[in-house]
Amino acid sequence: MEDLISNNLPGTRDILPEEIDRWQLVEERARRIFDQYGFTEIRTSIIEPTELFARGIGSDTDIVGKEMYTFIDQSKRSVTLRPEATASVVRAYLQNAMNRGGGITKLYYIGPMFRHEKKQKGRWRQFYQIGAEALGSNHPAVDAEMIEMALGLLHSLGVKAKLLINSVGCGQCRPRYIEMLRAELKVHLADLCEDCRRRAETNSLRVFDCKVESCQPFIEKLPVITENLCTECAEHFSKVQAYLNEAGIVYDVVPRLVRGLDYYIRTAFEIVSGELGAQNALAGGGRYDGLSEVLGGPPVQALGFALGLDRLVMLLPEEQSAKGRRKPELFLAHMGEPAFKKALEIARDLRRQGHSCYLDFAAGTLKSQMRLANKLGAENVLIIGDNELARGIYSIKRLKDSCQWEIGLAEISEYLKSRK
Ligand code: AMP
Repeated sequence: MEDLISNNLPGTRDILPEEIDRWQLVEERARRIFDQYGFTEIRTSIIEPTELFARGIGSDTDIVGKEMYTFIDQSKRSVTLRPEATASVVRAYLQNAMNRGGGITKLYYIGPMFRHEKKQKGRWRQFYQIGAEALGSNHPAVDAEMIEMALGLLHSLGVKAKLLINSVGCGQCRPRYIEMLRAELKVHLADLCEDCRRRAETNSLRVFDCKVESCQPFIEKLPVITENLCTECAEHFSKVQAYLNEAGIVYDVVPRLVRGLDYYIRTAFEIVSGELGAQNALAGGGRYDGLSEVLGGPPVQALGFALGLDRLVMLLPEEQSAKGRRKPELFLAHMGEPAFKKALEIARDLRRQGHSCYLDFAAGTLKSQMRLANKLGAENVLIIGDNELARGIYSIKRLKDSCQWEIGLAEISEYLKSRK
């Protein structure tokens, strides 16, 4: 029989109770900050027709070419577990006519993505992204605001990261540049790796993604898009930078930061962290004004980013993660069956009043229950024994300083409230 209990599928894992507070802290913070910027959550389906990603991400990309979890379902339809969410968000935006009223629509999502990638530290096959999309505007301040929001989230969590930006031009200036690039690549074709040789023909911009050592000297000498932008793109780029400067945001312009697909235009950015090792990208984003049309919709000017939640959680400083930890306000220690019943009743009552209570079902000794209360980090322990039951007065112990005193039932909630 196949061993079902020793391992998850490669590249997938469980996020266990002892780490969940870090995840929840990041998610809650993202929700709060995104809300401050006027973004609302959207939950799109995790499984989509394969064609949505083939077109939305591009059949020439590694994601679509090699990494998708695609299968034929019972209705004989090719379906795919989403490798990213932008195509789904744009689909949902168009399907629900969110563009109807004009103006800008700001959406965000949090959830799992699936890519059958090579295993590596910081790389998962089921991983999580927090992402945001602003649809319906080409104002450069929208680009800057989105970057500010992403960095604001990281900053509020005490995570240090670096912003890299570029402009990848548009339908006006990029074809001219690509021609120039292709001509240059042709000269060095024999010296380039196999992937680059193929890319030189099919999708020359992606040559800049090459990590092969021997290609780097040639790649470094290639002309860069940033120096070949049309007037509109150059203007947009300089305005984005001016807005970033006004917001006090530090960045590097990296002319080799590109996106391989035609529908990406102008702003491209990445947020990286030196603490992540080889997989140093924490977030990636850009403007994708052409995507809606690729999916069969009208032109929609739009921009978005996706941030790797797994990687962000890894970078969270210890003092930040402690903030997310929820501890029981009250641990109810009980001795004997009548006390157990009373403990259940008190806990029920206090929970209804909004307090977090914990009690042990194992009927251990007072000592073992105190040990458990300490392990859970409970703030207080209420002691319930025959004596206390008979008097209707209980002992409460504050674990932080071991201070202990007597308390009546009616006063417990008041006391707990005063501690919040
Ligand atoms: P992308 O959608 O490829 O632009 O990725 C955006 C962000 O998602 C990256 O910067 C990473 O932080 C994260 N990410 C992408 N792929 C993976 C993966 N396989 N495992 C973990 N995080 C990932």
